[in-house]
Amino acid sequence: MKNSKTKAKYQTFIGLEVHIHLITESKVFCGCRNVFGSEPNTNVCPVCMGYPGVLPSLNEEAVKKAYQVAMALNCHLNEKAVFERKNYFYPDMPKNYQISQFEFPFGVDGYFDLELADGSTRKIRIHDVHLEEDAGKMIHEGSQSKLDYNRAGTPLLEIVTEPDLVTGEEAEAFVQQFRQMVRYLGVTDGNMEEGSLRCDANVSINEFGKGLGTKTECKNLNSSRFIKKALEYEIKRHTKVINSGDTIIQETRLWDESSSKTSSMRTKESSNDYRYFPEPDLPPYWPETKFLADIKESLVELPGIRKNRFIDEYGINQQQALFLTSEKSMADFFETVVEGDIEDKSLPGTVASWLSGNVQKILNNSGQGIEESSLSPRRLLSILNMIKKDKISTGIGKKVLGLVFEADKDPEDIVKNMGLDEGPDESEIFRIVSDIVDANPKVAEAIRDGADKQIGFFMGQVMKATSGKANPGKIQKLLREKILTGPEKN
Ligand code: ADP
Ligand code: ZN
Ligand code: MG
Repeated sequence: MKNSKTKAKYQTFIGLEVHIHLITESKVFCGCRNVFGSEPNTNVCPVCMGYPGVLPSLNEEAVKKAYQVAMALNCHLNEKAVFERKNYFYPDMPKNYQISQFEFPFGVDGYFDLELADGSTRKIRIHDVHLEEDAGKMIHEGSQSKLDYNRAGTPLLEIVTEPDLVTGEEAEAFVQQFRQMVRYLGVTDGNMEEGSLRCDANVSINEFGKGLGTKTECKNLNSSRFIKKALEYEIKRHTKVINSGDTIIQETRLWDESSSKTSSMRTKESSNDYRYFPEPDLPPYWPETKFLADIKESLVELPGIRKNRFIDEYGINQQQALFLTSEKSMADFFETVVEGDIEDKSLPGTVASWLSGNVQKILNNSGQGIEESSLSPRRLLSILNMIKKDKISTGIGKKVLGLVFEADKDPEDIVKNMGLDEGPDESEIFRIVSDIVDANPKVAEAIRDGADKQIGFFMGQVMKATSGKANPGKIQKLLREKILTGPEKN
């Protein structure tokens, strides 16, 4: 067991602190608008600017969303939640304290089922889910620092995991899967570049069986890939330091993407330094049973559960189900199309392959989400129906799909206006089939002798002669009839 290649000497512990910006009309303790990208210092008021004598009042919408996340993370909900002041001085926080939760957050002791690379899942314990206010933004320009308080007081939900993750890759997967979940819930847009999902990554290593080591915390991780890279860098650094007989200092480190390194930012303060105490201007929050029950009732089906249901209920494969449920909008779209014709048992498979293939290709090119595109479930169903009824070929169907996206028109109108449904009728196809087969008697003979693959040659010729408008199934059927009867004798 001494072989270092098969057994690592150290055990790794990773815990994440994930912050998400909640989607609400107004800020968490005042009536200012909660939007991204406004002119600096236009969404501010005495409350979020920390003027003396003002009083915060709690935004119920933010509370609802906090509970949604806590429930989705299987947390125990404290019967009383308490807001506390976290005291520190920094110019982006005009009150010199942040209203947060400490001893009694909304949710504690939950878990998240992390799907691992091998398809199995592992429970990652959630320490707590708490609501707080965001700070303003400091913009450094040359020797000047400017302050924008639009973000100050916007609702931020922090999710703290226990140190249950063991690799950078797992931490990345956690953030991706968690992001998907909170987007499903509709509580945040989860945009990491705009900072509406931020993550600090804590890591330590220690000899096996010795428990947690001394941790470092990495910040400035504004993409899930950076989380993985920063953690892998830190794990290597910890290993080197400890192997050389030195000790790791508990500190906060900044990830620098350009050099792919972390560097020390500050030695980490402990929670003692923040002198938390209950916020005197906000009473403890006692959620009513009915209020919580209504939230629970309205929780959407989460992506992992929905994926498994899609496989069971619609008989589609794992990969398709994974694709369809990656975004709620796509999953909803799929189900709406399928519900359009529940009698057709092959419809789910067809819809799944159209959405993951033809449709997704167009969405990728335009950078649009399906919900903002001009394709509606009704329009897709109508294309598929026309194909099913042989009104158009699959090839024309694809063309119509492209035109729906481009022109924002109904497929029936596109087909009618462009004369796309005037494919050749059966007798006309048979005439074309006859001519082509008669012109190539050797190929026909070879097929009769068993070279069945060569039928593809005829298919191609007939498709070309009918400009792709004829139904391939029909062509194939007529071709076989014609070839079987042998050369015309006259
Ligand atoms: P702090 O007081 O420094 O904020 P917390 O105990 O609140 O530390 O934990 C913050 C995060 O760091 C959590 O996600 C937790 O799982 C993780 N963490 C705590 N201790 C360790 C450790 N020794 N090694 C790795 N991660 C840790
Ligand atoms: Zn305000
Ligand atoms: Mg902490």
